Amino acid sequence: MADAPDPKPQSQSPLDKEQRQGLNSIRDFLRKRTSYDVLPLSFRLIVLDTDLLIKKSLNILIQNSIVSAPLWDSHASRFAGILTATDYINVIQYHCQFPDEMNKLDQFRLSSLRDIEKAIGATPIESVSVHPSKPLYEALRRMLKTRARRIPLVDVDDETGRETVISVITQYRILKFIAVNNEHNTILLKKTVRDLHLGTYTDLAVARMASTVLDVIDLMVNRNISCVPIVDSENRVLNAFEAVDVIPCIKGGAYDDLNGTVGEALCKRPEDNPGIFTCSEDDRLDSIFDTIRKSRVHRLIVVDDENKLKGVISLSDILKYVLLHDEEDVAKS
Ligand code: ATP
Repeated sequence: MADAPDPKPQSQSPLDKEQRQGLNSIRDFLRKRTSYDVLPLSFRLIVLDTDLLIKKSLNILIQNSIVSAPLWDSHASRFAGILTATDYINVIQYHCQFPDEMNKLDQFRLSSLRDIEKAIGATPIESVSVHPSKPLYEALRRMLKTRARRIPLVDVDDETGRETVISVITQYRILKFIAVNNEHNTILLKKTVRDLHLGTYTDLAVARMASTVLDVIDLMVNRNISCVPIVDSENRVLNAFEAVDVIPCIKGGAYDDLNGTVGEALCKRPEDNPGIFTCSEDDRLDSIFDTIRKSRVHRLIVVDDENKLKGVISLSDILKYVLLHDEEDVAKS
């Protein structure tokens, strides 16, 4: 049988061409830069020992205004994964499934996190790490292939041969790096959120201010998402509850507070919390990059003219588009 003729190449509009040019230049940039380049000139890295009580780790995160930390197994002198809000959500689920084990839970150390994960039947997040001098493009691809939203940069010490965690790279840091260094390229991305179908618009998981924190956590776990928009009875967006919002909720082992409302929980946010960012379906990708350049954006809630919820754009939605849209080798990755 003769091969089917190649489909006629579709003619590209000037808008399409510019968009393509912008995406290609950003991808080239990511191939030329390494994860080291993303790191600021000076930064702090708080590493927690796996012998630390889970209860105490919460206070350390809150006191230092951080929401995750690499873990160090000092017995084996090895890097032991990353502590994130997902781990605390697992602890909460453990508390709900085994309410009689409250005393045991109080004594759990960070080394027990994997056992807690197994006990509640959670699917472990694939642990990946990258060498800091590998191309950023590679780190990002690995990030998008797994559910890992933060990847440790692990190097090996020349003298001791031991692993050293240099820092942790997140989707947020990478997007910010792209935005800050590529204004001349992001300006070419003139297609709108609607044109690009950027984000999720159907079957949205939402909650109300009066919903309990536990119900929202259940929703996040069952839907495998890290943010739930909070709407009123008219579907107008009031706020958004994020996975990291559980951290102040269980400070000091106050698991009973989880029966409180989302409204109460949101009041526990740190004062410097940037709040939520919204956009409309008519906004262009270049204006979203502008917002990312100027602010601490972790997702955008898409609303209509009356502030009613239309969709959610997560950082992974943006990065997937920037990195993988129309890439021929996506299927092979
Ligand atoms: P993170 O926000 O933790 O850095 P992420 O960028 O993958 O990770 P998630 O919020 O977990 O963000 O989003 C995963 C996918 O689920 C995305 O495609 C996003 O559009 C979609 N999504 C996010 N929130 C909701 C929601 N409330 N309802 C339905 N889908 C959602």
